[in-house]
Amino acid sequence: MRLCLLLLLFIWLSATTPAQNLVIHNAKIYSSPDTPPATHVTLLIRGGKIVALGSNVRTPAGIAALPCNGCVVFAGFWNTHVHFTGPQWEAAASRPAEELTRDMHAMLTHSGFTTVVDVSSDPNNTVSLRRRIQSGEVAGPNIYTSGFALYPPHGIPFYLDDLPEKIRVQLPQPDSTVAAVQAVRMNQAHGTDLAKLFTGAYLTPDNIVHMPLEIAKTAVRASHDHQQLVFAHPSDQQGVQIAIQSGVDVLAHAPDTITDVNGDLVNEMVRRHMAMTPTLKLFSGSSHIDKIRDIVAQFHQAGGRLLFGTDTGFLTDYDVSEEYRQLQMAELTFRDVLSMLTVNPAKEFHLESHVGQLKIGYDGDLTILSRDPNNGNLQDFAHVLYTVRSGRVIFDAESMH
Ligand SMILES: [Zn+2]
Repeated sequence: MRLCLLLLLFIWLSATTPAQNLVIHNAKIYSSPDTPPATHVTLLIRGGKIVALGSNVRTPAGIAALPCNGCVVFAGFWNTHVHFTGPQWEAAASRPAEELTRDMHAMLTHSGFTTVVDVSSDPNNTVSLRRRIQSGEVAGPNIYTSGFALYPPHGIPFYLDDLPEKIRVQLPQPDSTVAAVQAVRMNQAHGTDLAKLFTGAYLTPDNIVHMPLEIAKTAVRASHDHQQLVFAHPSDQQGVQIAIQSGVDVLAHAPDTITDVNGDLVNEMVRRHMAMTPTLKLFSGSSHIDKIRDIVAQFHQAGGRLLFGTDTGFLTDYDVSEEYRQLQMAELTFRDVLSMLTVNPAKEFHLESHVGQLKIGYDGDLTILSRDPNNGNLQDFAHVLYTVRSGRVIFDAESMH
């Protein structure tokens, strides 16, 4: 009988997420983008939530302390444009947890991301990965996923030509409103969290095909009916128009074919409360990157909500410092970029009551840097010492050496 109870207790303990208590002493913290930093702060997380922060915090015995003398602590960073499409994620349900954790370090957690938004991948796989992270088996970020993106009819982008055939045949290209609803429902049945539409897709580098407006509208409605946000890849002015008119919530890229993208269009996006993830690094090799940056700057100045994102996963170079450099060249400030990484995505996902700031009762998601990017160089946002999700260290730069 006693053995049986012990066994049950063991099963229960191993099913709950491990080690969610943590304390950090003597930290410099930015509790939100609007408040000045505080120094010599102790921050205490219990059960995955922030329970105390200040200069006179008494720490209960037995709580692990993270060595952090003078380090700089922020609410956990979001990357709102990633893809779990690389070969390392193909067998996410069965690959050894340590291998997945290592690949997660290489792709995302080494850059401090505690939450990522996957805007197109195989939902079978990504939902398995998400489940293994949630159970504590794999050390990784919170994942929100769209499952497969929806493409225009005959509109698979040329740069996806090398996708394996078994994936290619699954990519939905709805050619009717009925097919659009089916595609959205198919993703939702897998447990996805949002939708992604290619309102404009590059059939070749010079030929963009667009999603018919009625199909886009129907897909957005089917997503909003399930309280799911919709992201769109616009490509050009017409792709942005379709996104606006169909009620898309977030542009997953700045438009990069910029003909006819003017101040009126930018103002219309802002007026319709459309957010934008610029992904400037993706376009950094473009001959008109300066104009794309101008669009992002105009959008920001008009009051548009910007989210941080890099297209990591499609880009196989996982270094994100170029994105920070480009945002700085777009004249965004330290506080603007911190908002993009924290409070802005929390608001967009309606999580602002417990995510995006360091406050008592908020999630214990932290990004801890070795340098303060408020010193004039926004690339210091990429100097990550630790990444902590729900009080658990999911990346430690020291242990990587
Ligand atoms: Zn992408």
